[in-house]
Amino acid sequence: PIYLDYNATTPLDQRVLDSMMPWLTGNFGNAASRTHLYGWEAAEAVATARQQVARILGATEKEIVFTSGATESNNLALKGAFEALGASRKHIITVATEHKAVLDTCQHLEAFGAEVTYLLPDSDGLICPEQVQDALRPDTLLVSVMYANNEIGVIQPIIEIGSLCRKAGVLFHTDATQAVGKVPIDVQHAAIDLLSLSAHKLYGPKGVGALYVRKGISLTAQLDGGRHERGLRSGTLNVPGIVGLGVACALAQKELAKESTRLTELRNTLENNLINSLLNTQINGHRTQRLPQTTNISFGGLDGEELLMSLHRLAVSNGSACTSASVEPSFVLKALGLPDDLAHASIRFSLGRFTTSEDIDLAIGHILEVVSRIRNGA
Ligand code: PMP
Repeated sequence: PIYLDYNATTPLDQRVLDSMMPWLTGNFGNAASRTHLYGWEAAEAVATARQQVARILGATEKEIVFTSGATESNNLALKGAFEALGASRKHIITVATEHKAVLDTCQHLEAFGAEVTYLLPDSDGLICPEQVQDALRPDTLLVSVMYANNEIGVIQPIIEIGSLCRKAGVLFHTDATQAVGKVPIDVQHAAIDLLSLSAHKLYGPKGVGALYVRKGISLTAQLDGGRHERGLRSGTLNVPGIVGLGVACALAQKELAKESTRLTELRNTLENNLINSLLNTQINGHRTQRLPQTTNISFGGLDGEELLMSLHRLAVSNGSACTSASVEPSFVLKALGLPDDLAHASIRFSLGRFTTSEDIDLAIGHILEVVSRIRNGA
């Protein structure tokens, strides 16, 4: 089937794999071994990757902590800040449409005394900076707002939120897992203190990611041990994975502008053809404040499961991979105000580096045929 589920995960780019191979074979050293060449070489490869990750964010190398992925990065950011400072500040502000790795972490912290405000987005999926401003309290520790949403692709007003958090002296964390490599990010300009990312969303390997921790911010480690990563994340470094993440960032940064234009065109072609040819369809999420390669479309009157099963020539999803095992309609779409039946009849199409215009043409033909067949009761 044609793969249009890049927000769930991306294939490994061959160039990334090539960069990783030596570190999976002959160069197997432990980056913490200081007594021989095997260790020195691994440490140097990690240092290069750290620069590459820092560069795509406008950060410095010392501000990058390697982790096992965005789930761990989100946990470290929120739990680490709460454990370090939560004695005096126990209020956290986040958004109802965050990824579960943020929402469930907040829920966990509530059991340990945190008080969490969950902001509701408007019907386009956006929150406005004033909502954050109004929710601030004297004991607010941290604001966590995702950069771009995994289901609808909506991009939150990060720069405005960052600036108001900085003025208020409140930590600002953003889960940028879906944004890194797709839109330009500058942690200085946006006044971001903590940022989570994951390699497998940008053509790198699964099971590796990073947390940007702005200089001067102290977090409590969630994994104790050999004090790797300046004590913030113990555990022998995943050298091949980290090398792959670094190269994935470098490639994405180099190709971002061109890819963004190309994918916007393909995404719009897909959207326009479906919206114009099919009655009772709607696009979910803000039309312009959005990732270039994501679209989420409701097919009114159809049964979501039946539609998904009938689209056998496409690999697409009806929400995030983490929750698509459940029959519940997407909580993100429900937060936008969609009724259950429409939320259930929605499909996320996410395009990527290896999507061609032939793929999109085939997808359009297939969707139009399947939808009219179901609607005609055939
Ligand atoms: N946050 C967002 C916005 C995501 O889309 C994902 C992946 N579904 C994650 C966090 C979790 O990332 P990882 O798979 O690296 O743990």
